[in-house]
Amino acid sequence: MAKIVLSNAHCKDAPGAFYNGTTEYDYSCKVNKIIKKLLEEMGHEVTIVDGGNGSATQTLKYKAKLINQINPVAAIENHLNASDNPSASYGAEVIHYQGSTKGEKLAKNLSNRFSYLPVKQKGTTGRNDLYLLKSTRCPAVITEPFFFSHQVEQKLLEFNRGVDVVGKLIAEGINSWVTMI
Ligand SMILES: [Zn+2]
Repeated sequence: MAKIVLSNAHCKDAPGAFYNGTTEYDYSCKVNKIIKKLLEEMGHEVTIVDGGNGSATQTLKYKAKLINQINPVAAIENHLNASDNPSASYGAEVIHYQGSTKGEKLAKNLSNRFSYLPVKQKGTTGRNDLYLLKSTRCPAVITEPFFFSHQVEQKLLEFNRGVDVVGKLIAEGINSWVTMI
């Protein structure tokens, strides 16, 4: 049994990218509920943190503070990628804090699961400029399983209950990482 935090991406007042009637925030709330249920069935203690109302910066600071108070083994924030640039490189990606060995392992576990999605695979990326990743004491990762600005990848939200599939892959990836730490 492990204590895990799932973070809702962005916030109500600044919900992130918007395509086809869905925002990143809507997606994140939906997928986090699915992941929470599955991880709880596996015996884990799961808390979802939400930034509430306020600016993007305020809510990000609030979420990081809450995560540090809860003190979980890991925090996972689930986003969708988007770009209006038609030549952007699409596909699934997981971002971890650069230099965090545990964070990188968690990112790789999740990225391996995303290879089951019918999208291009961009693997894992280490970054040190993202507030949530650098301000949390526990390993933290950001998932971007697909681009919802991309016509083909967007279909994942519409067909085959794509959010359920992504949620299940993320829950499995977290659980397999927890058994390794
Ligand atoms: Zn985002």
